[in-house]
Amino acid sequence: MSSTQQALFWTKCLFCITYIEYPWIHKNCELCCPTCGKLFNAEECQDDVLIQMTEQEEKLAKLEQKLTENDEEILRLKDHSQKLLVKVKKFKERKKKLEEEKECVEKKFNDILS
Ligand SMILES: [Zn+2]
Repeated sequence: MSSTQQALFWTKCLFCITYIEYPWIHKNCELCCPTCGKLFNAEECQDDVLIQMTEQEEKLAKLEQKLTENDEEILRLKDHSQKLLVKVKKFKERKKKLEEEKECVEKKFNDILS
C-alpha cells in the first residue's frame, strides 16, 4: 500500500453535520453523504469537534491498550492460581496420606499397649 492510498482527510456534510473521513483523492470533490444521501462539496475541515474526536480516538486507543494489558495480566493471574490450586491439591493428598499413616501407627501402638 502506498502512502497516497492511505492518506485521508476529514470533511463534513453541510446538511446533516456528519463528519466523514475520505481518501485524499476525493478532496474538494462532490461527494454523496452516507448519512443523508445529499451531495456536498468535500472541503477539508479542521473544526474543534474534529480535534476533539481525534483526541477521543487517541484516548480510546490508549484505553484499549490498557484493557489488553489487563487481559494479559488476568491470564497470567489465572495461570498462577491454576498452579497454586495444583499445589494445594498435592498438599491435601499428602496431608491425607500422613493422617492415614498416623492412624496406622496409633493403632499399632494401642495394640502393643493392650
Ligand atoms: Zn449528510
